[in-house]
Amino acid sequence: MSNPRSAIVELDGVARRFPGPPEVVAVRNARVRLQAGEYVALTGPSGSGKSTLVNIVALLDRPTSGRYLLNGADTMGMPERQRALVRGRQIGVVFQSFHLMAWRTALENVAVAGMYAGTRRQLRMRMAAAMLDRVGLGQRAGSLTATMSGGERQRVAIARALATQPSLLLCDEPTGNLDSAATEVVLDLLAQLNREGVTILVITHDRQVAARAGRQLAIVDGVVDGLVDGAVDGAVDGLVDGAVAPAAGDAG
Ligand code: ADP
Ligand code: MG
Repeated sequence: MSNPRSAIVELDGVARRFPGPPEVVAVRNARVRLQAGEYVALTGPSGSGKSTLVNIVALLDRPTSGRYLLNGADTMGMPERQRALVRGRQIGVVFQSFHLMAWRTALENVAVAGMYAGTRRQLRMRMAAAMLDRVGLGQRAGSLTATMSGGERQRVAIARALATQPSLLLCDEPTGNLDSAATEVVLDLLAQLNREGVTILVITHDRQVAARAGRQLAIVDGVVDGLVDGAVDGAVDGLVDGAVAPAAGDAG
């Protein structure tokens, strides 16, 4: 599993159509490969398919065509139960709008994560407390998240994503609602996690956030890094050193 050259995520000609009407092709022919241990940023204008792509990689949604291999395993044929289990054990997701329970404590919010991985309550609470320490919120474990600042909530959401020690961390605009000081705290945390071996995919509008990643990809109108339908096979490897394609109308 820890073969340094192994792909943790491999999207092969992945498309996602929403039937509508009107039909929307949110992602077309995505060929994306994340090597274990990479830190990759995906940038693109609003509506370009970023969240759709993250949901697919997170196993929260299925492509309408193409193939998605996670750690070499084909996820396409997996029944929903198995996908939930794999997600719970291997993938941490930080959503753009946090998705925290406002009237629960930070500790309770983080401890929820282990439920999907099948972890017992006592262990979940211990792991949750350790993760809140990790993100610098040990003192706030008993606070309702409704009473916390945006930066603190974002760190609670990250702690929840990390509570099951995922090998893959997906962050959808993790600094979108933060001021620059809180952004730095989050970016330092992501960099530290990556040094510890966590593979990270960050979706962002912010060039400074993208610049912290080891590699940058762009998505425009559902097309990742300028690859279009009919791109030559083997183009996947061409993505590895991909420079940022110009993101037309980048919301900045
Ligand atoms: P981004 O995250 O880059 O802003 P999204 O992935 O959220 O973009 O959306 C890409 C496109 O797909 C948009 O046109 C959006 O309206 C459409 N879309 C996303 N989710 C759905 C859905 N569940 N049903 C129909 N259209 C959707
Ligand atoms: Mg989005």
